[in-house]
Amino acid sequence: MESASSTKETEIEVDALIEALIDAASSDVGIEETVFGFNESNQQIVEEKDRKVKMLVYHHPACMKHHIEDHPEQPNRVKVILDAIRAANILPADAFVEAPRVEDEHALLFHGAQMFDRLKRIMSACQEFGKEHRLDGDTAVMEHTKEAVYRAAGSIVAAVDDVFSRDVDTVFCCVRPPGHHATREKSMGFCFLSNAGIAAKYAYHKYNKRVAVLDFDVHHGNGTEDGFINDENMFYGSTHEKDNYPGTGEEPSASEKDSNQLYQRIVNRTLPPGPASQSVFKRKWKEIIDKMILFRPELVIFSAGFDAHDSDPLANCELVADDFAWATDIVLQACRDIDESNPPPCISILEGGYDLDAIAESAVAHVKSLLNGYPPINHGGDEVQALKEYLDTVL
Ligand SMILES: [Zn+2]
Repeated sequence: MESASSTKETEIEVDALIEALIDAASSDVGIEETVFGFNESNQQIVEEKDRKVKMLVYHHPACMKHHIEDHPEQPNRVKVILDAIRAANILPADAFVEAPRVEDEHALLFHGAQMFDRLKRIMSACQEFGKEHRLDGDTAVMEHTKEAVYRAAGSIVAAVDDVFSRDVDTVFCCVRPPGHHATREKSMGFCFLSNAGIAAKYAYHKYNKRVAVLDFDVHHGNGTEDGFINDENMFYGSTHEKDNYPGTGEEPSASEKDSNQLYQRIVNRTLPPGPASQSVFKRKWKEIIDKMILFRPELVIFSAGFDAHDSDPLANCELVADDFAWATDIVLQACRDIDESNPPPCISILEGGYDLDAIAESAVAHVKSLLNGYPPINHGGDEVQALKEYLDTVL
């Protein structure tokens, strides 16, 4: 999935699209006001409060419509995961909620104004005229991209509100396109906006919360790191396959890991290809969690990519579904270590993962772990009964 820079011809093509849209605007079909009402309220979500739903799963039909032919980042990814979560029968029907759109002003907490404006104009033009335009070799905008992008980012921003101002314990956002390769200034690697990064900045902006994004996708989340590197209120931890796309996220030397202040909150750990990846993943994920505990986040966002799975076609690691559950469990345990009476909430958003069977099984394992979040096992008494009572309140 190597990228190719935009050629001169594609630049001209974009400019032509934008020009066409500007022309359309002058005949009463404006760019900014055409299709989307960005101020749509979240009333539907607010009403969930009274239903005692503890976990939400965001999704949206628009996430099924962004479709580039023969592309591994395909609509069925979210379909098979949603179907599997429903089939697992672990959540009530009203836990599944349609994602709202992200507000422009919230996307701009992470992205540069120029980048965001250009992306928005390209997406609007493609939507308006039914065109497809490649931003790079593997990242393309088509007619339905804009709505999917807005819903994907909107889902995880809404999840922040859910855990801080509503009666919700945890959220899984089953949305696409993914986000962790989108930098402040560039869409790339199947990603348009930094979904997790926007939500993290929003959590600090609105709730004054320090945020850790934990990324077990097999690729390095260069975009999330880009937005966090100069922000001391943000922590980014990632395990990713060495030398895979996008080629960033080099692991520091042993001495740098301890001595360099930046590496206490930007924590990159690389995995080897092949059978060793599983044991190395567990060892290095623990290293990340140790540093996260010292950072003391007040919110954890999982960048949940399942492409480190043994079956994935875009990588060479050999994890299985239970490994993602394990990774989730130890993060939740760490959150309890940080503040036993008021652990930081954990929310999650889908990133990569391209084998449909593997991502369905892995996502269910991850969601089950999130759902079992904070059983009161450290408070003595009958642990099994306590867990059962906890689950009864959820289910
Ligand atoms: Zn990936």
